[in-house]
Amino acid sequence: MVEETIFSKIIRREIPADLVYQDALVTAFRDISPQAPTHILIVPNLLIPTVNDVTIEHEAMLGRMITVAAKIAEKEGLAEDGYRLILNCKHHAGQEIYHIHMHLVGGVLLGPMLSYSFKK
Ligand code: 5GP
Repeated sequence: MVEETIFSKIIRREIPADLVYQDALVTAFRDISPQAPTHILIVPNLLIPTVNDVTIEHEAMLGRMITVAAKIAEKEGLAEDGYRLILNCKHHAGQEIYHIHMHLVGGVLLGPMLSYSFKK
């Protein structure tokens, strides 16, 4: 049994959020605790807990997350300098909300991709 998160309530507009985009497949809203000047979450309207749970049936909505990210980045003035899209999967990646979401972060030079150091 998959448990709903706060994101389902935001998608259904039962609780407030700073919505920037919504269509039949995805919803985008500003992160409540931004880590960059622009920090927006793009989520599928259907509850999929983690990237481990995606199937071929989800490809349209997962693709839409990327096209919407590009559209929002353009609108937010991030397209030229660039930005980062992040999908965290489970505890090693620090996933807190078990409803897939893509972080769109930008508006500043973001630095190295990962904060831990890895030497092979
Ligand atoms: P994760 O660590 O799961 O990849 O990211 C979850 C994100 O959701 C965090 O950046 C956190 O700030 C954001 N978040 C958690 N609860 C809420 C909420 O109620 N509203 C909004 N707008 N963002 C939230």
